Amino acid sequence: MTDEKEITCIICPISCKISVKLDGKNFEVTSGSKCIKGVEYARAEALDPKRMLTSSVLVNKGDWPLLSVKSSEPIPKNKLFHVLKEIKDAKIDAPVKLGQTVIKNVANTKINIIATKSIKRI
Ligand code: SF4
Repeated sequence: MTDEKEITCIICPISCKISVKLDGKNFEVTSGSKCIKGVEYARAEALDPKRMLTSSVLVNKGDWPLLSVKSSEPIPKNKLFHVLKEIKDAKIDAPVKLGQTVIKNVANTKINIIATKSIKRI
C-alpha cells in the first residue's frame, strides 16, 4: 500500500514542504525538496523519525531539586513515551557532575540520559 505525506524540512530556514511516497521500505521524493539535505531529512523522517530529548530528573540531597538532562543521541519517536516515563520515575543522589550518565540504556534504546549541569550535595 502506498502512503503519501508532506514533510517540512527543518534543516534550514527555507522550510521546504517535501512530498514523499512510501511503499513499505521504498521511499521516493515526489516534489518540494530544493537540495539533497532535504531528501536525506525526509527519508529519515519518513522511515525512522528520531528526536533529541531534554527533560529533568529529581535529585536527592542536592542544592537543586531538579537536574536537567538530555539524551546522548536522538531517540526513535516511537520510544519517546517509554523514555519519558523512565525519566519521570528516576531519582538521582547528589552530587552529580555535568556529563554524568544518569540513566543507562534508557527504555532499552541503548541510548543514555546524561546530566547537562552539575549539582552539589547539601
Ligand atoms: S530542502 Fe534544502 S533548501 Fe529546503 S529547507 Fe531543506 S535544507 Fe533548506
